[in-house]
Parts: sequence; structure tokens; C-alpha cells
Amino acid sequence: MTDELSTRAVHAGEPRGPGSPSSPAIHTATALESFDDPGALGDPEALAFVYGRHGNETWSALEAVLGDLEHARGLVFASGLAASFSLLMALTEDRARLLVPQEGYWGFRELAQMLTSRGIETVAVDGADFASVEVELSRGPAVLWGESPTNPTLRVLDLRGLARLAGRHGARFVVDNTTATAALQQPLDLGADASVYSLTKASSGHSDVLLGAVTTRDTTLFERVRAWRNNAGGIAGPFEAWVALRGLRTLPLRIERQSKNALEIAEHLRRHPRVRTVHYPGFDPSTAALASAQMPLGSGPLLSFELDGDGAAAKRVVAASRIIRAATSFGGIESSWERRARWRGESAPPSLIRLSVGIEDVQDLKADIDAALLAH
Ligand SMILES: *Cc1c(COP(=O)(O)O)cnc(C)c1O
Repeated sequence: MTDELSTRAVHAGEPRGPGSPSSPAIHTATALESFDDPGALGDPEALAFVYGRHGNETWSALEAVLGDLEHARGLVFASGLAASFSLLMALTEDRARLLVPQEGYWGFRELAQMLTSRGIETVAVDGADFASVEVELSRGPAVLWGESPTNPTLRVLDLRGLARLAGRHGARFVVDNTTATAALQQPLDLGADASVYSLTKASSGHSDVLLGAVTTRDTTLFERVRAWRNNAGGIAGPFEAWVALRGLRTLPLRIERQSKNALEIAEHLRRHPRVRTVHYPGFDPSTAALASAQMPLGSGPLLSFELDGDGAAAKRVVAASRIIRAATSFGGIESSWERRARWRGESAPPSLIRLSVGIEDVQDLKADIDAALLAH
């Protein structure tokens, strides 16, 4: 019998038995004693414990949990984008077309754009529009990069449907699962070849570490991604891995509370006279059933809303909160918000505020929001 995810998050990878520590050590050694000829160390598992760029026991402790949460194997990286980069390099070894989400993480779309001069053709697609995705998939071997819920308008895409489309056209399918996290959404079960994460967000959850990860059940892909990590060197620091592991242990607990708070606030905002629209997974009737099937345990910490006003009004509201921090990033235990249109290249409407809901008392948060909305 397999334990439930919240149990596995707490116990996965832990050593048991007399003298075994309840928390892993932070291993900082860059070289480990070894007598074999490194040339003979064909096995990457063996090589991992010879030199620090190839492996580290503190990463392994974190990777054991990341892998376990998705019944897969995990690889940890210096950041979400370092993870995305190595995964992208591995997947484009035998294909040169990349379909990126039209509404997807800005940094990744910039990275993809930078790679066009290296022969990778990048096309932005709307993952909700299957017909146009299919047209692009039929143009040659591709990598389809998905992100759901989208950010910042929290649209829910049919990941199982996209995986089928990709499969039919011989494409590889990746899901950036940063927003939902493995606690709410399991892309590999829905047919993705790999999940990619910025652990910087809700997975670590305390806004104190930059880190990323790739998870996959495909052994060949795993080894290619690891080879890119080994040789491109986007490795995690042992301390950062330790901090992220500490956070990951409480992910199911945090995300449950954050989802509950976020839903209550989203419903509150929906009734608010100064709010024009609220975006939250499950709110759009056309994808409500899909949202509850794909993310059955909750819709996550992130929501966004458009004020009945202009960008300047949204700026005043963001600046007026007492509890909610005015900051980018999301997924932490502390609530934060920002006006998205302040970012270059962001297509969000001028009055859209993205709110990441934390674990504070929800009545306090609602009172803070109501008071800030008076600045409108
Ligand atoms: C933040 C983020 C990234 C990039 O992660 P870093 O850890 O900042 O490199 C990638 N994808 C999504 C969806 C993100 O939110």
C-alpha cells in the first residue's frame, strides 16, 4: 500500500533505525575519497559521489522527496530557470521546435527567445486552443511546454488532452507545475514526460531560497537532464537544498490552508463593488469541471482580480495594505500582491492585481484587502 501524499512528504527518503537523524546533514564537501579511475566510472550514480558537481547527499535527500511525490525521479537545480534550461537542452537534442505557452512564465519565454539564434524555433501557442496547437505540432518534431493554471489569469488547461495531442504528433510534453505544485496537480499522471518546478515558490514556501527541479519517470530523459546539469553546472547549493527540503515537508499542509484562504478571498472579491473580475481556477464555468478533476484537492494560493478602475488605482491599492506585502513572486506563507502590468512584456490589463494568499488568518486578510480597496 502506498501512503498518502501528506505522509510521504513528511517521511520520504528519511533514514530509519537507531542513530538515524530526523533531518539530513548539510554536506558541503566538493570531493569525496575515491580510488577508482574516473574514466571507469561509467555509472552516473557512482560518479555522483566522487566530485561535488555530479552529486551531493543533501540534494539526494531533497530529490528523494521530490521524486516520491510524483512516483518519479527528481533532479534539483540552482533555480527554476536552470532546471528549465537543462530540461530544454535535453529535449531539443533531437528536435528543434519549441511550443511555449502564450501566457506563461516570462523568464522562460525570454530564454526560449534567446535560443532562436542557436537554431531552436520558438512558437507561442494558446494551450486552450487545441486546433492551433495541433497545427503547430504537425509542422515537425516539437517540444510542447505547458503551464496550468496560467499566470496571471489562472486559466486551467486540459493537460491530459494536451499530452494526447503531443503523443499523437510525436512531440515531448512538459508541464511547468510551479503554481499548482505536486500537492495539487500530478502532471506525470496526466501524461507529461516531465514536470519542471521553480521550488522558489510554494514548493519551498518560505520565500527564502531560489531553487528548481525536474521530475520524470523516463530513465533516458532523466540521464540526459542529469548530464546537462553535470556539464552546464546549474547546481544547487547544499544549504539551499536543505532549506527547500525543510519547506517541502510541510507543502501539503501549507497548500491546503492557502487554497482554503484563497478560495474564501476570491469569493469575497467576487462580491466586492470595486472589483470587476476575479480569476481563480474553477471560477470560469467553461473549465470548472476540468479544474476540479485536474486539481481535486484545491485550487492553490494564487488568484488575480481586476479593479473597476485604472492602473493608478491598482497601484494605490497595492501600496495601501498593512499585512499583505507588495512584492513579486508567490506561494510563500506570507500573503503578497502586485500590479502585474508594471512588468515589461506582461499582457495583463492595467488594473490587474495578482494576489498570492498565505497562511495568515483569513478574516485579517479580508479586512486588510477591504481597507486597501478604499484607496482605490
Ligand atoms: C518563478 C517561476 C519560474 C522561474 O523560477 P526561478 O526559480 O525564479 O528561476 C519558472 N516558472 C514559473 C511558473 C515560475 O513562477
